[in-house]
Amino acid sequence: MGGGSAGLLAALTLRRLVPEIDVTLVHSSEIGVIGVGEGTTAVFPDHLFTTLGIDPAEFYREAEPTWKQGIKFVWGPRDWFFYDFEEQYDWRFDGLPKPNGYYAEEDCTDLSSACALMSRGKAFASGPLGKPLVKGNYAFHIENHKLVECLTRLAREAGVKFVDDTLQGVERDAHGVKEVRFEKSGALSADLYIDASGFRAELIGKALEEPFNDYSGALFCDRAVIGGWEREDETLLAYTTAETMDHGWCWQIEHENFINRGYVFSSRFVDDDEAVEEFRSKNPKVGGDPRVVRFRSGRHQRNWVGNVVAIGNASGFVEPLEATAIAQIIYEVRWLAETLQLTDRMPDDRMREFFNQKVASAWDEIRDFLAYHYKFNTRLETPFWKACREDVGLGDYQGLYDAYREIGPSQLLVESLPTRPNIYGIEGFLAMLVGMKVPYANRYEPEAEERAAWESARGRLGRAASAGVTVSQALNAIRKPTWKWS
Ligand SMILES: Cc1cc2nc3c(=O)[nH]c(=O)nc-3n(C[C@H](O)[C@H](O)[C@H](O)COP(=O)(O)OP(=O)(O)OC[C@H]3O[C@@H](n4cnc5c(N)ncnc54)[C@H](O)[C@@H]3O)c2cc1C
Repeated sequence: MGGGSAGLLAALTLRRLVPEIDVTLVHSSEIGVIGVGEGTTAVFPDHLFTTLGIDPAEFYREAEPTWKQGIKFVWGPRDWFFYDFEEQYDWRFDGLPKPNGYYAEEDCTDLSSACALMSRGKAFASGPLGKPLVKGNYAFHIENHKLVECLTRLAREAGVKFVDDTLQGVERDAHGVKEVRFEKSGALSADLYIDASGFRAELIGKALEEPFNDYSGALFCDRAVIGGWEREDETLLAYTTAETMDHGWCWQIEHENFINRGYVFSSRFVDDDEAVEEFRSKNPKVGGDPRVVRFRSGRHQRNWVGNVVAIGNASGFVEPLEATAIAQIIYEVRWLAETLQLTDRMPDDRMREFFNQKVASAWDEIRDFLAYHYKFNTRLETPFWKACREDVGLGDYQGLYDAYREIGPSQLLVESLPTRPNIYGIEGFLAMLVGMKVPYANRYEPEAEERAAWESARGRLGRAASAGVTVSQALNAIRKPTWKWS
């Protein structure tokens, strides 16, 4: 149930990976979709093109994504720093005895090719004949309505049946849901129900009353003001910007013809009107009336209960600071598809329990990763940011921070990870700790020779990036009739 990105990705993935299953997708055009969620991580293109085998040419033509190599954080004591989907800190340049993090106190730019590209306004390295090398761990910026339209067509072609109707009631039985009743279609029943009804969580939350684990002890923001403007002469950038604001932070997402801005804030510290005012004053180009969206951060205790599996915003939500929701949808549907494949579509309680543990620990990890962003941002002294530094809990990742304080950005930190394999590795956490210059004991003083090796490696990455291709040039290249996707 649900025709937003979660329902569509679930339907499409199940049809492709477990084709024995008949899928009917019920959505309500009366209710519509949330219509936000426009940055992805690198998991998304990989899922579309590799796992689902979608033709990139079709997808680029219809959904019109642009590329995202990472996030520029205007955050902490540096002017800014980058987070990317490659590795900056969890490796060492040739000739260095210690990992990169130990050398990045003063300058943390050009530690990966993605970061070098982003800081020069480029999207991809340039290949033969100056063509963009569209490969590696890139992600997308993509307008939600275009994504939904494109996925709807792909799902129809994959054999998903669509019903446009609004839920009226749910009848339960010992297995979970017996049948769902809709306004026009009457009662429908199935062996397995996917609840992708967004924040309404119609089945998992309302009908089955599965308890919700609230994340407000770590993540204080609960609303966003959203607006934007038609692109004028601004350069089309290959990254999302996340900028510290008085009571939260503001994103900038780069579409080809539109710039999308959103101020995520905490209603404990500011009311909607004041937040809109701060948003407008810092973004004078925002047109029309920005809309305010409310959300709560947390997850259902179990997301597979009886014959109901929740996916997407119905399953849980953390605010979009790392744009992780679509990636989480993909993990959830892949684990579901794998479970169904492994069990010949007859999963038992043990398999459901295993799924629930994986989904829960993925949500909790994202919560803790975002908590690092808040706990260590020293940029502003407003009541919101002071409260974040004092009160945000680091959850299961407190131990990683304790170890970092002693040993610094060492690869030995891997021993302090609470669950393995985890989504971000130590790389993600180090990007935030070193990016925000979080202090540690036993600082390392490199020799002059090491410094020279460090500068020379960064220089090589920088020179290659300078010869790279911008987003606009790459879009022009892939739209030429001679372009071939490999
Ligand atoms: C401020 C904000 C910013 C975000 N930014 C990002 C981002 O940058 N990147 C990212 O990955 N994610 C982001 N997200 C999350 C994003 O919303 C989700 O990734 C994504 O859109 C999934 O939504 P969904 O399909 O779960 O829900 P929705 O899009 O809300 O879809 C719900 C579906 O269920 C149907 N439905 C609901 N109730 C009923 C009913 N009673 N009867 C019939 N049908 C019903 C609706 O019609 C709809 O089709 C953001 C979220 C917020 C709030």
